[in-house]
Amino acid sequence: MNDPVLDLIQKQGLPYQISGRDYLIKCLNPEHPDSNPSLRIDKVTGSFHCFACHFKGNLFKYYGVFTNQAPIRIAKLKEKMALIKSSTTGLELPKGATPYTKVFRGLSVKTLKHFEAFYTNIEEKLQDRICFPVKDITNKTVVYVARHTLSNGNPRYVNYPSGVVMPLYPAAAPRDAKSVVLVEGIIDMMNLYDKGLTNAICCFGTNTLHKDTKQKLLPFKAQGVSHIFIMFDGDEAGKKAADTLKPLIEEEGFIVEIINLPDGSDPGELGSSDIQSIAEYVKK
Ligand SMILES: [Zn+2]
Repeated sequence: MNDPVLDLIQKQGLPYQISGRDYLIKCLNPEHPDSNPSLRIDKVTGSFHCFACHFKGNLFKYYGVFTNQAPIRIAKLKEKMALIKSSTTGLELPKGATPYTKVFRGLSVKTLKHFEAFYTNIEEKLQDRICFPVKDITNKTVVYVARHTLSNGNPRYVNYPSGVVMPLYPAAAPRDAKSVVLVEGIIDMMNLYDKGLTNAICCFGTNTLHKDTKQKLLPFKAQGVSHIFIMFDGDEAGKKAADTLKPLIEEEGFIVEIINLPDGSDPGELGSSDIQSIAEYVKK
């Protein structure tokens, strides 16, 4: 197996031990006479840290070795994702859940089926609502989002159970997608999907991605997504939120572009031809 960190340790003739996720060697700090090995080196990234003298660095830099860090970073991300995966538990389907088989707000039955829309007359909190399971990268349901079927229904959305930290949904991009289009609401995302823009994701409101940004964007990064287009609602709140979010996403290493919609419109109401041109635009 390709193991650049171990290769370098061996090339430098450093005696080492394996210790969990690290290699353990004698400290590289010339001012630290280290009789017991106390320098831990991350097996994947080559980052090191001495637990006795706190000498820190990266093995590749230390030896002036220029490496292509991309495969190392991706391996690291995959490792982190495996940790996230193993810590999630799925929710059970609410009582009385029955597949939703009508068109809803211009969303085809096929699209609703794809997102596993359902309704229930038994679970009180979900009555008169179209419900969607929101899943994590392992396909486990983390929360149900239920929208009132009447446009003036109040509240418009219910999260079930309440109080869940809202993820990005879908939690990963379609295979081989280089970009994603980030929208506010689940219906926005589904409307784009319905009309052929299949790499849309939603963040459930304008201010949820400010929290756990790194962790939420991790799967997209590991998949090789490089561009994120923010397409929030065409109102003051949406514009302001997009401007605030842009640098936070850029910080995670993505190229970010804001798509401004005309005043008063939102991605959930766009028609086929508009969505087709946006899909063309983000592809190039
Ligand atoms: Zn040391």
